[in-house]
Amino acid sequence: MKLDLRYMLAGLIAFLSACTQEEPASETPGDPPAEEEPAEEEPLPEPEDDDFLQDNEGRVFSYVPAGDLLPSSGPGHSDTTIYRPDITFPLEDAAFLNSQVYRHGGSNGGLNGMTEGQCHPSNYDYPWQDTFCESRSREQIMCPTGGHEGVDIRAGSCIPETGAVHWAVAVEDGRIVGLEGSKYTVKLQTSDGTLYRYMHLKMDQLAVGDGEFVTKGQRIGKVSNDFFNSAGDPVPTTFHLHFEMYQNYAPDEETDPIFDQVSPYMTLVNAYEKKLRAAE
Ligand SMILES: [Zn+2]
Repeated sequence: MKLDLRYMLAGLIAFLSACTQEEPASETPGDPPAEEEPAEEEPLPEPEDDDFLQDNEGRVFSYVPAGDLLPSSGPGHSDTTIYRPDITFPLEDAAFLNSQVYRHGGSNGGLNGMTEGQCHPSNYDYPWQDTFCESRSREQIMCPTGGHEGVDIRAGSCIPETGAVHWAVAVEDGRIVGLEGSKYTVKLQTSDGTLYRYMHLKMDQLAVGDGEFVTKGQRIGKVSNDFFNSAGDPVPTTFHLHFEMYQNYAPDEETDPIFDQVSPYMTLVNAYEKKLRAAE
């Protein structure tokens, strides 16, 4: 089994090299160095802990480095900080971080030759890819040319195809805030002010109410495609969870806190690796 997985991973690395036209970053925990690829007759070295982390369907987890976006999809933001090392991953089961706009099923998928529907199998597979500061028309301080202020997470299977229910959960103990009047966003705030925003959950079937205290891992809502335009008309998006995080920063007690939006990408990689490791 380990032999097969190693060949799968070596193939994946070759694929990634071709996609990114860059050497895989050997220092990232999800990308073992290419020189580990063994000749057929050589014994395999014992994998390290982070090698071959598998999800519940036996797929080997891997990810593209932070800030390394799809071609023609924006500048990205190469932030490798794990801001919250102890969060629980925001979905209960397997998940795939990748672009909703520049891949199959997205309005700009054609730019990358991806013209099939959102349920295309490659959308539901590893490696993960960052979408923080993916191109958007709106301004945002971290993405000065206009960008996507969070990351997009597909659930373990494509909901229109499988009809499966995929739950989003509280990443930390906290409180649901600002739900009143919110059309497609659920906010979770912790006692130190850190704020998380979950978007596109099934809003009429939420498992929480406004002001409710929740505990880490508690179900919040189902992954869905709820979205509305600025006029308030429903404009369904792809089925995914858009996830944002804000640090609460104040230089002293007299100053109002600033909610400083940060890239959750590596925080989520860390949380997912811990989740997979715990399930081994
Ligand atoms: Zn998004």
